[in-house]
Amino acid sequence: RLELQDLGLRFGALRALDGIDLAVQPGEIVALLGDSGCGKSTLLRVIAGLERPDRGSVRLDGAEIGGVPPEARGVGLMFQDYALFPHLTVAENVRFGLHAHPRATALALAAARLEQVGLGHRAESYPATLSGGESQRVALARALAPGPRILLLDEPFSNLDRRTRDRVRADTLGVLRETGTTTILVTHDPEEALGFADRIALMRAGRIAQIGTGADLYGRPASRFAARFFGDLF
Ligand code: ATP
Ligand code: MG
Repeated sequence: RLELQDLGLRFGALRALDGIDLAVQPGEIVALLGDSGCGKSTLLRVIAGLERPDRGSVRLDGAEIGGVPPEARGVGLMFQDYALFPHLTVAENVRFGLHAHPRATALALAAARLEQVGLGHRAESYPATLSGGESQRVALARALAPGPRILLLDEPFSNLDRRTRDRVRADTLGVLRETGTTTILVTHDPEEALGFADRIALMRAGRIAQIGTGADLYGRPASRFAARFFGDLF
């Protein structure tokens, strides 16, 4: 369980995060939805420990992790340009985050994760020989391999063409549900948020304008802003 309380972060005069309260339940998938520049990536970076907030607290499973370095937080990250290491095989890429494990354990874990994303047969391939969708699945396996307590996905599907995107989205959702991974997905696409998440946090200018299920936001928008966000959809 992740709990954010009154998170604030300024860049000069800009309030990138301005009083964010959010609780994510174990196994839940929450989408952060909002226009470019509203603070979605900044919020993920704060949760991951890559950015230090000016105020507020980040608690994971009851413990304050504000002072914990990124690699010790048990947070998995996957960005839009989920770059795989070109000189490492698929299996080696997935093992990358497992250096703390004994070699045999790391081998077994990596193999299991690759099976899970349907790429066990490509373990010895190099990234350059993979399609965009396959690369994305390897990156997912790599992010999940250490068994993160929470997974943060920043626009992970935006580099894929439309047909591939729909399939990879569905595959990814399947893996996250199967593993019960607590996930925050950043997107600016309301359709993706509706299809992917248990709840949607609609962000505007560093704040959460509204949070609820897709039905809540779509059916009962609390502001003209929310109504307009979903209004273009259908
Ligand atoms: P997008 O959908 O375009 O990725 P976003 O919602 O992820 O947008 P952020 O990247 O979180 O937006 O940025 C929020 C605001 O903070 C933007 O105005 C951005 O320019 C600013 N910002 C982010 N990081 C920094 C930084 N290191 N220094 C100064 N300003 C920053
Ligand atoms: Mg962003």
